[in-house]
Amino acid sequence: MRRFASDMSIHRSKYAAVVVGGGPAGITVVGNLLEQKKTPILWVDGKFEAGRVNRSYREVPSNTKTKLFIDFAEAVAPFRKIIDETPSPHAIDYLRKLDQDQGCHLAHAADMLLMLTEGLKRTPGVEIRRGRVTSASIDPAKGWSVHVDQSPEKPSEVISSRLILCTGSSPTDTPLPLEVKGMQSLHLDTALSPSLLSKELSANKEVTVAVIGASHSAILILMNLYNLASTSHSKLHIRWFTRHPLRYAEFMDGWILRDNTGLKGAAAAWARQNLEPEVFDNSPVSKFVEKISYKREHEFETYQQHLPGCQYYVQAIGYMRDPLPTLTQGDSNGAEITPYYNHGDGSFSTGPGEGEGEKIPGLYGAGIAWPERVTDPQGNVEYAVGFWKFMRFVKKVVGQWN
Ligand SMILES: Cc1cc2nc3c(=O)[nH]c(=O)nc-3n(C[C@H](O)[C@H](O)[C@H](O)COP(=O)(O)OP(=O)(O)OC[C@H]3O[C@@H](n4cnc5c(N)ncnc54)[C@H](O)[C@@H]3O)c2cc1C
Repeated sequence: MRRFASDMSIHRSKYAAVVVGGGPAGITVVGNLLEQKKTPILWVDGKFEAGRVNRSYREVPSNTKTKLFIDFAEAVAPFRKIIDETPSPHAIDYLRKLDQDQGCHLAHAADMLLMLTEGLKRTPGVEIRRGRVTSASIDPAKGWSVHVDQSPEKPSEVISSRLILCTGSSPTDTPLPLEVKGMQSLHLDTALSPSLLSKELSANKEVTVAVIGASHSAILILMNLYNLASTSHSKLHIRWFTRHPLRYAEFMDGWILRDNTGLKGAAAAWARQNLEPEVFDNSPVSKFVEKISYKREHEFETYQQHLPGCQYYVQAIGYMRDPLPTLTQGDSNGAEITPYYNHGDGSFSTGPGEGEGEKIPGLYGAGIAWPERVTDPQGNVEYAVGFWKFMRFVKKVVGQWN
């Protein structure tokens, strides 16, 4: 049905699902909905360029084995059809040529996602819309009315039985508790890209960069900075602020301890070789990296003492969910809904805590912002993040997304 209002044209259609986000999670969800024949699907993203992994992490070494990217690409029938129909050589052919038990640069994984995206765009049952979902309202009798902003001239509203949030997360960038004259923030995404980092930092001037954190990203950044300091940027110095010993993923009997929180892959190998207390002083890395260990309660004094003299600081302290569309009840003027995620089945409730309140009909989520919660054989609880984990979770729960 098409309706025209005085200030805009509104195109209303009925979909089985609106999928918000074109990153690895959105791709996973579209593939699974197609496999379940839950169509037509409206898929919304600003660019359809595979999310942050393609935009910002192409130069990052993966923390998962190459084989898991291929497992992801072959996990559902619609993806397999895309692989069969894409002329060779294509991104999955390249992935197959790599050592399957080692990591690879995320560029290879991103190219695989771009190939699947192009295939999904051509798949019957999928309609794409470039833009942003800015709001959605739920009427239990009608479903979700979803507002998509494509450009100021062309907003549109659609009706859908399901609204699936694959909206992603971005690096946490909280202000430091003190101001340091002459010191500026270096964005985590820049620091994770050796080519951007080399352009951002002067090769001819004395520059000191403070790296805050001991996460996987922090180690990758230390590696990147060290590689610059020991080659083209000999006047570069690094101060590494860390509050706890490094934690590594450990391969147990059929499972991985700290699978989602520990260091893995190239970052883990480099950290063991250079950063552990027993090797650090004799490692070439210590020529450029000054390690500043401190306890949480001494953070402020530590920063006061050691941040002056740094020209840049980069915080590698985690990721925060990207802003959600405004969700309301009834219509766009109805009461706003705060959704609480159920990490067991991908649904949302009205809260106040997880699993409390009422289930919100037809609202689901997946990806880094909405991961599965897993418990390992030792009882440790983690959130499962990574392409293959998104796929495994969505495959398990998509049948209940009604
Ligand atoms: C340093 C690093 C290394 C990693 N290494 C690996 C690895 O080796 N192996 C692995 O499997 N995983 C790895 N990951 C994890 C993986 O890359 C990320 O978890 C993944 O990018 C998250 O995918 P996503 O689809 O949830 O989010 P994103 O990639 O952030 O995609 C979200 C998309 O949604 C869009 N969007 C958001 N809101 C709206 C809206 N309102 N309307 C329309 N569109 C919207 C955004 O524009 C974006 O395109 C790594 C992550 C990091 C940070």
